[in-house]
Amino acid sequence: MDYKDLANVIFPYVKDISYYEEKYPRRNLPEGAVVTRFAPSPTGFVHIGGLYQSVIAKKIANQTGGVFFLRIEDTDQKREVEKGVTGIIDALKEFGMSPDEGMINEDEYVGNYGPYKQSLRKEIYQAYAKYLIEKGDAYPCFCKQEQLDEMRAKQENAKLRTGYYGVWSKCRHIPVNEAIQKINDGEDYIIRFKSQGREDKKIKHHDVIKGNIDFPENDQDIVIIKADGLPTYHFAHAVDDHLMGTTHVIRGDEWLSSVPLHLQLFQSLGFKSPKYAHIAPIMKEENGAKRKLSKRKDPEAAVSYYAEVGIPEEAVDEYLLNIANSNFEQWRRQNQDAKMEEFELQLNKMSVSGALFDIVKLCDISKRVISKYTKEEVYEKALNWAKKYDKHLEELLEKNKEYSLKVLGIERGNLKPRRDIGKWEDVKENIIYMYDEEYFKEKPQYEFQKITDKEEIKNIINTYIEEYFDINDDKETWFNKIKDLSEKFGYARETKEYKQNPDNFKGHIGDISTVIRICLTGRANTPDMFEIMKVLGKESVIKRLKMAIEKL
Ligand code: GLU
Repeated sequence: MDYKDLANVIFPYVKDISYYEEKYPRRNLPEGAVVTRFAPSPTGFVHIGGLYQSVIAKKIANQTGGVFFLRIEDTDQKREVEKGVTGIIDALKEFGMSPDEGMINEDEYVGNYGPYKQSLRKEIYQAYAKYLIEKGDAYPCFCKQEQLDEMRAKQENAKLRTGYYGVWSKCRHIPVNEAIQKINDGEDYIIRFKSQGREDKKIKHHDVIKGNIDFPENDQDIVIIKADGLPTYHFAHAVDDHLMGTTHVIRGDEWLSSVPLHLQLFQSLGFKSPKYAHIAPIMKEENGAKRKLSKRKDPEAAVSYYAEVGIPEEAVDEYLLNIANSNFEQWRRQNQDAKMEEFELQLNKMSVSGALFDIVKLCDISKRVISKYTKEEVYEKALNWAKKYDKHLEELLEKNKEYSLKVLGIERGNLKPRRDIGKWEDVKENIIYMYDEEYFKEKPQYEFQKITDKEEIKNIINTYIEEYFDINDDKETWFNKIKDLSEKFGYARETKEYKQNPDNFKGHIGDISTVIRICLTGRANTPDMFEIMKVLGKESVIKRLKMAIEKL
């Protein structure tokens, strides 16, 4: 009896691996094309770190004319949730990260290397496990859970490395005929890899992100096929990434320490190993210390968070690129209008340790992204968001579509567009004062700044209304009139003028326009006041100004 007999007893019906090698031929791609994948478990939660990996993997594939695919790693069926796969597919789609190949719903896929869900590939893994058994590189293990627990306790007590290795790997030495006998007797077993590694020897590995690293060899006889017949992650990823032609495994750096084992598996299976790029996790600062963004503690860890607060997906993608390559920021400054797809991402420029998640920075990026949208886009996107999250805003926008477009069009489409909206959640606060029905109901609080004298304010506003305000003025005339008004009240026409001779004036034009602005909107900061007046219209401007001084 030899290994072949053992393999046949264990997996009598599986196909020979040559069948799969032919069925999934090497990809015919141009030189230098990179094949990447996102390989999540369908746990029902898409972490921002997963999106980060996808942004990177897709970008690298796209910019080299390669392929980015989605593989669902559901071999741990305890962790699975209903509709977990669809959740991932939808999230990727939402963020513009749809893969070129992979699952398209719970059970169907596109691409020539499928199925792209591990639970549908059971017989493939078994074929390769059989191949390893035939080679003497894998074996059945009959240890019961209690025995393993006992072994672990002994190892812990003796302060030894835990695991199934060396003298501890009992079943490794069971002769083939005995193993066959046990199987025929109906004993339960799993399949383990027979490691040839030694802990006291080192392997050298070059990680595309982390650089050169020395690791001790792996000497653990890890499980490759579990009792339910499904593979473990380690084994499945090797088989899949080989058959699916992955050239670069881009994944979280929690897997870095598994590299020695993975390289060993590739070698034993006779596969060319892919390149590995281990990404440091996104971190968060808390009380001066850094920790991983946590699914439990941080709402921003879930990709669904961004839709809730209304940060456009492209802003999130762009922010993630920003974290990935620190030179992105400079590139963006020099290429304001370029699509982020044009940026060339480099894996070897990624930071080795985790970047800090910075919501302020994300909002800045988002403000820039939103500032490039047309007023129609802002209207549609804000409305879509409001339909889910803010009934009041929804009504406001729907009831006053034409007017809202004008409001949203203020300082938009010009060279220096307004940058006050960072998320759809901010829209209402940013525009609500422009709607008379809301403004007069809201009863504005006027917090005057430099000029606070009531008589002075009344006079300025009355004079403005009576002598200067004309809704038909063009911008220059309008501005000149504010200058004239300033002069009339003893304020400098230009700030510069005031700074040169502060004693000659009560203040400057800025103080006058602030008074008008506050009386007009109840706020000290707004976009361009000329445009605001145009949108409000004559009647509303006068009514607002008068109301302000009546309240003084
Ligand atoms: N299923 C593994 C995980 O979710 C994938 C790791 C990999 O990308 O290879 O962590």
